[in-house]
Amino acid sequence: MQMNGQSDIPQIEEIDITNTAKGSIGYYWLKLISDGFGSPINVPVMVARGMGDGPILGVTAAVHGNELNGIPVIQRLFNEIDAKELRGTIVGIPVVNIPAFIRKKRRFNDGVDLNHIMPGKKDGNISSVYAYRFIERIVKKFDYLLDLHTASTGRINSYYVRADMSQTIVQKMALLQNADIIVHNPPSDGTLRGAADDLQIPAITLEVGNPSTFQKRLIRSGVEGVHNVLCHLDMVDDEIADLDRDTVICSASKWIYMDTGGLLSVNVELREVLKKGQKIAEVRNVFGTKIKEYFAPEDGIVIGKSISPVNQTGGRILHLGIIKT
Ligand SMILES: [Zn+2]
Repeated sequence: MQMNGQSDIPQIEEIDITNTAKGSIGYYWLKLISDGFGSPINVPVMVARGMGDGPILGVTAAVHGNELNGIPVIQRLFNEIDAKELRGTIVGIPVVNIPAFIRKKRRFNDGVDLNHIMPGKKDGNISSVYAYRFIERIVKKFDYLLDLHTASTGRINSYYVRADMSQTIVQKMALLQNADIIVHNPPSDGTLRGAADDLQIPAITLEVGNPSTFQKRLIRSGVEGVHNVLCHLDMVDDEIADLDRDTVICSASKWIYMDTGGLLSVNVELREVLKKGQKIAEVRNVFGTKIKEYFAPEDGIVIGKSISPVNQTGGRILHLGIIKT
C-alpha cells in the first residue's frame, strides 16, 4: 500500500477486508482509473470490520454524481457503528461516480449514465472500464448491497425503495427501510442493482429525497434503514427500529410524459393517492394561455414529480406507482 499525497489515507487497488484489523474502521483510496496526466482517480472506501464473523454489507452512494443524501447516511453510519460489537463487515462507498461528483453532475465525464452500463466492459471507453473495475474490485466482495440514490435534477421524490419483491431476502431488506413507498421492480439491465443481482448479491435501491442537497430528516431515515438491515442480518445486537410508517407497496410504476412543450405545473403532492382521470398537471404557453391538461391514466400514488416548469416535448410530469391490491 502506498500513501495518497493529500493525506495519510492508504491507496489500494482492490478491497481486501483483511487489510482492516478486526474490531476497527479503515479508510482507503481505491484507484480505479487514471486521468490524462496519469494521476489516479480514487474512490473513497470505508471498511468497518467486526470482531466476529458475518456477511459483508456494501452501502454505495452517488452513482449519479449529484445525488448526495446517501453520503451523510454512510458517514453517520460509520460514526455510529462500534466495530468491536459488529459481526461481519460494512463497506461504505460514499461516492461511486467520482468524475460526476467533482463536476456536480449526474453523468460520468463522457456523458454516459453509469447506472445504465453496469457491469461495464473490461476493454472499452472510460465509463465502461470504470464500471467494470468498480464491479470487479468492489461490488464482488459484497454479500448484500444497498444503493442510495435521490431524484434527478428538476424533480422531487417521496422516500421510496426499488426492489425485486419476489425474492424473500430482498423483500425483507426493502420493508426494513420504513420507506413511504416500495416499488416492485425486477432489476433492469445496466443498473448497479441489476449487476449485483446477476452476481446473486441481494440488492435494493433507496431513493432518498432530492438531488444536490443534504436533507436531515431523510438522512436519518436512511441511517435507520441500514441499521435495521444490520439487525436483521444479525450483524449487530440492537433492536429493529419501529416501522411506524405505513409503507405503500406498488406492483409497478410508470412515468407520465408531456407530448408537447411549454410551462408545466404539477398540481398533486408527493404520496398523494390518485384516481384514474384525476387532473394532475397543466401546461401553459409563454403568454399564459393554457394549452394542455394531463390526467392520471389509472389509479395510483405519486412517487415523484417534476418541479421544473420549462419542458420540451417528452418532459417528465409524474412518476405514478400502481398500488398492489
Ligand atoms: Zn440516481
